[in-house]
Amino acid sequence: MRKKIIAGNWKMNKTPEEAQKLVEELKALVNTDKVDVVFCPPFVCLPGVIEAVKGTHIAVGAQNIHFEESGAYTGEVSAEMLKNLGVKYVILGHSERREYFHETDEIVNKKVLKALEHDLIPIICVGESLKQREQGITIDLVRLQTKIALKDVPADKAKELVIAYEPIWAIGTGKTATAEQAEEVCKAIREVVAEIYDQTVADAIRIQYGGSVNAGNAKELFEMPNIDGGLVGGASLKIDFSKIVNYND
Ligand code: PEP
Repeated sequence: MRKKIIAGNWKMNKTPEEAQKLVEELKALVNTDKVDVVFCPPFVCLPGVIEAVKGTHIAVGAQNIHFEESGAYTGEVSAEMLKNLGVKYVILGHSERREYFHETDEIVNKKVLKALEHDLIPIICVGESLKQREQGITIDLVRLQTKIALKDVPADKAKELVIAYEPIWAIGTGKTATAEQAEEVCKAIREVVAEIYDQTVADAIRIQYGGSVNAGNAKELFEMPNIDGGLVGGASLKIDFSKIVNYND
């Protein structure tokens, strides 16, 4: 039985002071071991958030890393630095990074390998644009994104990581995929994982849905057989995040 994982992607929101306040408001409400809960604040908020969640079940994730170990990459942050800080997860290949920062599938793959080298758990984002959905290529595209992201990832590491299916047209738009649409793609991702590795890896890997998840739609989405939780943007910055985490209560 896969444990659900519900992660909040705070994106470029909250100062360290504001982050502290949000964690203080949320932490007692989302401190559960029934699901894995992850806060992914901006880099500068990570030390404070890591400190603030000490002694709870809440884990902390970053929103990006560079794929090189270290060196002359001004403005970048390495996997080793984050691991050293106490970060557990890292979101990789978010559609905003693909779109605004030109991250390709190959770059995402390099980042996945670097994260795993430092025992960070990648949350790998895949998903189609509205145009691609209308062209009928959603499944082909997501299969390809998944295959490239997982290139050279050994089975024992693949089992541990998380894939987030995030249709771009649903991110930050208030337009959620139906539970059936989300399930169809998450199932296809699990099938491609089984093709790359085997059924054991496919049964172990956790696949989230992301795209305008809120307190009202979380339960229906998370009850689908191939949806193992959510990657939540906007709603993770509000008290509503606790309703998403506690969707089953
Ligand atoms: C996201 O940023 O990953 C996301 C899913 O955002 P939102 O929940 O706001 O659509």
